[in-house]
Amino acid sequence: MTEPYVIKMPQLSDTMTEGVVVSWEKAVGDKIERGDIVATVETDKAIMDVEVFRDGYLSGPLAAVDSTVPVGEALALLVSSADDVKSGDTAPLADGVVAESSQPGLAAASQQVSVSETASGPADASYTITMPQLSDTMTEGVVVSWEKAVGAKIKRGTVVATVETDKAIMDVEVFHEGYLSGPVAAVDTTVPVGGAMAYLVDSKAQVIDEQAAPQARLAETSSAAAEETPAVPTASTPSVSVSGVTPAPRPQGRGATPYARGIATQRGINLNTVGGTGPGGVIVAADVQGAQPASGRAAVAGFPQVDVPGDGRLMSKLEKATSEAMTDSLSMPTFHVTTSIKLGGLIRASKAQGASVTVSIAKACALAMQDFPNMNWCYQPQDKLVERSGVDIGMAVAADGGGLVVPVLRGCESRELEELNRDWKDLVERARKRRLKPDEYTGSTFQISNMGMFGVSHFDAIATPGIAAILAISADTEQGSPFTITADHRVVNGADVAMYLKSLKTLIEQPQVWMGPGGPALPEGEWDYDVVVVGGGPGGEDCARDLAGHGMKVALVNDAPFPGGECLWRGCIPSKAWRAAADRIRDRLDDDHLGINSGNSTLDWGKLEATRRKVLETRGDMALKTDKGVKIRYIQGFARFVNGHTLFIDASGNNDDPHSRAQVADQPQGENISFGCAVIATGAPPFVPPIPGAIEGLGEGGGVLTSDTVWTLDKLPKTLVVIGGGAIGLEMAQIFQDFGTQVTLLEAQDRILAEVEPEIAKQLTVVLNNDPRLAVHTSVQIEKISGRAGAVSVKYKDADSMAHTLKVEHVIMGTGKRPVLDGLDLDKAGVASENSVIKADARCRTNVAHIFAVGDVIGGLMLAHTAAQQGRVAAATILGEDMKYEQDKDCGVIFTRPEAAFVGLSLEQARAAGVDAAEVKVPMNIDAKAMINNEQHGMIKIVADKKTQRIIGVHLLADHADTLIGEAVMMVSGNMTLEQVGQAIHPHPTQTELFGELARRLSSRLRRSARVKAK
Ligand SMILES: Cc1cc2nc3c(=O)[nH]c(=O)nc-3n(C[C@H](O)[C@H](O)[C@H](O)COP(=O)(O)OP(=O)(O)OC[C@H]3O[C@@H](n4cnc5c(N)ncnc54)[C@H](O)[C@@H]3O)c2cc1C
Repeated sequence: MTEPYVIKMPQLSDTMTEGVVVSWEKAVGDKIERGDIVATVETDKAIMDVEVFRDGYLSGPLAAVDSTVPVGEALALLVSSADDVKSGDTAPLADGVVAESSQPGLAAASQQVSVSETASGPADASYTITMPQLSDTMTEGVVVSWEKAVGAKIKRGTVVATVETDKAIMDVEVFHEGYLSGPVAAVDTTVPVGGAMAYLVDSKAQVIDEQAAPQARLAETSSAAAEETPAVPTASTPSVSVSGVTPAPRPQGRGATPYARGIATQRGINLNTVGGTGPGGVIVAADVQGAQPASGRAAVAGFPQVDVPGDGRLMSKLEKATSEAMTDSLSMPTFHVTTSIKLGGLIRASKAQGASVTVSIAKACALAMQDFPNMNWCYQPQDKLVERSGVDIGMAVAADGGGLVVPVLRGCESRELEELNRDWKDLVERARKRRLKPDEYTGSTFQISNMGMFGVSHFDAIATPGIAAILAISADTEQGSPFTITADHRVVNGADVAMYLKSLKTLIEQPQVWMGPGGPALPEGEWDYDVVVVGGGPGGEDCARDLAGHGMKVALVNDAPFPGGECLWRGCIPSKAWRAAADRIRDRLDDDHLGINSGNSTLDWGKLEATRRKVLETRGDMALKTDKGVKIRYIQGFARFVNGHTLFIDASGNNDDPHSRAQVADQPQGENISFGCAVIATGAPPFVPPIPGAIEGLGEGGGVLTSDTVWTLDKLPKTLVVIGGGAIGLEMAQIFQDFGTQVTLLEAQDRILAEVEPEIAKQLTVVLNNDPRLAVHTSVQIEKISGRAGAVSVKYKDADSMAHTLKVEHVIMGTGKRPVLDGLDLDKAGVASENSVIKADARCRTNVAHIFAVGDVIGGLMLAHTAAQQGRVAAATILGEDMKYEQDKDCGVIFTRPEAAFVGLSLEQARAAGVDAAEVKVPMNIDAKAMINNEQHGMIKIVADKKTQRIIGVHLLADHADTLIGEAVMMVSGNMTLEQVGQAIHPHPTQTELFGELARRLSSRLRRSARVKAK
């Protein structure tokens, strides 16, 4: 390619006339390979990929992200060498470039097909269907099936046949019209790329119904080559024909293509040991090429056989197999790394769970591979790496009568310890008697050899082709047991192995983290209560109820007359009562759009407040009755630790008002209670930063309010400043704007909602700024707050350092929440904290074995459902059950209009966590329901793990996102795949249909890019 190639805006739908550049997936200067996705563009229907079917380097001028480009106009250039790359964003394209069309998606196949339109065929043939070149390395293909019969009418885009390439089974599409006609290449025949497979004729009368003679040319060459080289074909000849070879027996209960069976014969591979990636699990050639030969004869070839004196007996089959494997190992450039690992904890934890230590070690090895997957790969001649995700661990077992057998424990990465343990027991019994089937001792992806029981101080094991590493375990000493890995340097390097061993050491020495608790956490002893839960918010209440439900004697200490905590009395519930009123007012504004004349709404503040207080009091009373009903002893008072098993309950601040926080008096009064376990669930009150005048303004009549005191407003303010662009600040700001207050929101950071996906937060800022009485300013610096309630002055500098002063009736501080730990006397119980939060692990355990902490007091997402889940986790751990809090599956809703909602990870977070993820999005304004209701702001995004296709995050900005997120939560918490969500039947017309559509779209994009990558 000498002249630049123009990458143009493709026409991706019938109605598309232009597209918006959503993202550049490649940077200027990047090397582009055929089939790479270089950009995504938003059409009138969806966001779609722009693929390029040429090699080159991406060069500017590049159409800017967010710019609209008409179909057929240039998006960027592709140049032939890195030296020709030009940068630049939106400059017009240079004159004289060759403007060729970039063909999206499957058009590539049609290009290939059309290559040999000129191939000669029957006189009436209007078009020759040729073997397409479906991968760069493909030279021929095997006809797997004809999807259309001779005589069938063929339309543009019809899949007429499937062929097996050197990589997979793929469709042959035809982009011409006519009737399918012979001579047709027979199923199972090998056709060279460009060779005729069949023909199209213009009329039914012209159809020839006959099979083609085999296309001998390539097949003959290949079989000749096969005869000359009886050894296993190497990977450098992946497309070798298998003509003349008796196909290997079909695997039990599954299919395998003829081509795959032929290769299996040549490579001596047992198809029962091979996983199938073809449709319906059919084994295709690529699967066989990636499999481990039963015996690595190829590697032996060429080694000198040195004669030795003596009268040798013939080896037994087992001895011979071992000998061959060891000889084969000489082809591997290996090295050794050793570290000492203490096994005591793992031995105890395994015993508690009734698991074999060997199996626990295997499971730990598989878990450690999550961060070092190449430990599970292998080298494949020539110059290929087989990247495997299933961890199948071979572990040597001494057979009765001598010799070693290596049964393979499959699926160690995904199966539970209990199941693995069951399987292993059975495998070992049969291995000792040499009663294993071939697929039970072949195809391991990693191996372990344990000689600890023989007291050896150190040894290393020999890795054989088909694995990258083998672990040798020596006897346990005071310093631990030496774990030595012998590794293939072509697959892993020394640092990989060292870091892998470090991670393995952590897993083995801290088994409770992944094996779960060894039993109930309740220590033996005589206590007033089995468990005392401190704090009656969602975290404390859910914990106490679960424990009481399991028959534990539980006390719930809360410094208020009713349970409910911040959530009920000062947080979720009262704010949503206000939001509900604001929603009614806001929705009326759209009545006109549907032809309804409902007039102006007015707000009766007194009535709203009476309703709000009534709801809280009713809910508080219901909660208390339930707690008492399930036999929880509810103790009103402020708890503080006296020692590791005693709390003092100070009742000095007790009063009957549930609406505001209680304050303890100077003179403590109360009782000591003892406990077996304690759960700290004391929440986090609002945090007010040291802005001059802020803390001073909190006092009575001061004009500075927090989420604790905003509920004391006796009338609707006309003007407000809200400081802080987090969830609480934004919700408050928009509620008051909807009520009619003029609101300015000031945020110190350069964006609002740090926990929310960046694009969602950005779009929400725009939407909020379109509200008539709301202004959101970011990157501001608040200098001072002064004045009294009704006349407060706020001085701040904007992003350009311009000074401003706002005069308003009140300031609401939405500047976050922070636990107050001082009053708890944590040091008396030895409980550690860090940066003002109590340190707790995923099982909500603090550093003290019998003391737990949940909810806002441990930091992270400070949300009610998070606290409640952690409360249930703490209860489960105390009861000896295996449950963890998984932040990566947690969710949240920001109750603005439209609402922002999320579950799981954003693309940014997923990538930071090392997940190769992709996202797909759709704007709400294409949805019929959104149009009808005039709720067209926002978007939905789905993030999926490319490898597993599991949905790992969903992000919404949409009205009704609080309901929509429920389905998304099930997707993420249920580890659902794009395929499952795409195939689920969503009701019409609802916005949930968008989930299905997005899932199908991303699934097909990933399939397409995987296919292109595989070429
Ligand atoms: C305005 C606002 C709106 C919110 N909206 C939402 C929302 O829509 N969705 C959502 O998920 N979350 C929301 N939240 C957050 C939610 O309220 C908290 O995350 C949740 O209440 C935390 O639960 P918790 O059990 O950890 O603590 P809390 O609910 O704070 O409960 C702790 C309890 O312990 C008591 N206590 C403290 N110390 C002691 C002691 N030493 N002895 C005895 N008792 C003690 C406290 O007084 C309190 O009653 C909102 C918060 C605010 C302020």
